Amino acid sequence: MSNTKRGSGAFNPDWLVAAFHALPDAILVLDGNGRVRLANAAATEFFGAVLTEWTLEDLAKTEPDFGLVPIGLPGDITNVRQTLKIHSERLSRDYLLTLVGYIQGYVVLLRDLTDAHDQEDFKHDMLRLATHDLRSPLALIISYCELMLLEIPEALPDLTQYVSIIHEAADRMKLLLDAVLHVERFRTVPLDLRRTVNPVDLIGAAVDNMRALAAQKNQQLLVALRPDLGLLTVDVLFIQEAMENLIGNAIKYTPEGGQITVRAYTGDERFQFVVEDTGIGIGAEHLPHVFEAFYRAKQPGTENIEGTGLGLSLVKAAVERHQGSVWVESSVGKGSRFGFWLPLQAEKE
Ligand code: ADP
Repeated sequence: MSNTKRGSGAFNPDWLVAAFHALPDAILVLDGNGRVRLANAAATEFFGAVLTEWTLEDLAKTEPDFGLVPIGLPGDITNVRQTLKIHSERLSRDYLLTLVGYIQGYVVLLRDLTDAHDQEDFKHDMLRLATHDLRSPLALIISYCELMLLEIPEALPDLTQYVSIIHEAADRMKLLLDAVLHVERFRTVPLDLRRTVNPVDLIGAAVDNMRALAAQKNQQLLVALRPDLGLLTVDVLFIQEAMENLIGNAIKYTPEGGQITVRAYTGDERFQFVVEDTGIGIGAEHLPHVFEAFYRAKQPGTENIEGTGLGLSLVKAAVERHQGSVWVESSVGKGSRFGFWLPLQAEKE
């Protein structure tokens, strides 16, 4: 790099003007008489005209009518926000209109929300599809398979095998759908933060629920908690399930006879929860993605392990809704450490 000085020189107002025109939202600055004094490039494009000196009434006469006139020219606007649906021959979009008062007038801001609304609609359609249109016929297939399996004579082994395959496939689809709905619940249902809990009790309950699974694989499940963990204001159902998910994964991805250690400590106003295992570990290329929904790291040792790829995204959603954060460290063939921290005093969402 050459020896040019960085950050030197006086402030150049052109920079602000450039930033103003680069903004994707349409912005109009009006004076106290309701006349447009400044319009950025997005606003000029929106109205298809140069706007300086125009009034709100002039703007309202342009196509499309963006509904400013009912708002009028109030003398003391401080903040008005409303969503507008604009549907004309030229446009069919949703905007968020914001009016912000300043000393000599006010600023009108139009933010295009169409894409965000489309995404929300898509999400709702997908969920409706998952809940009704797929889940009910699947439940039927599963119950009829079960009935047939009871009735097929043993002399027909092929048929029994085919029906078992259909049964398993349908069961797996239902498992996936239920997991998607469960994660969606974790992301949207209001948190219940009315209770303060001792993390020792929370961890104890989570570990107790996982003991049988570890025992089935002859694994040692150890708990090492530092004293004085403090108190947590969290939604117990969410955080206990997050803990159980991490412990469950450690059990699942650690071979027979391995060791799982659950640790917790508190420092800097944060509660830390850690699960260590002596399992198969995760390759560095997979690590940045494991908390993403549906991501499953394909690597030696995972071929016969079942899962949906949704467990860790659920942990992340639960922890982040409590203003905490998740993390992972791992080494292939040696084991993994998954953890999260939570603020001791969670703020309400
Ligand atoms: P899954 O249902 O596949 O277990 P998760 O979202 O819980 O889904 O985990 C995502 C992926 O991260 C897993 O498929 C696995 O590859 C990896 N993973 C999670 N926990 C561990 C662990 N303790 N040890 C090794 N790999 C793990």
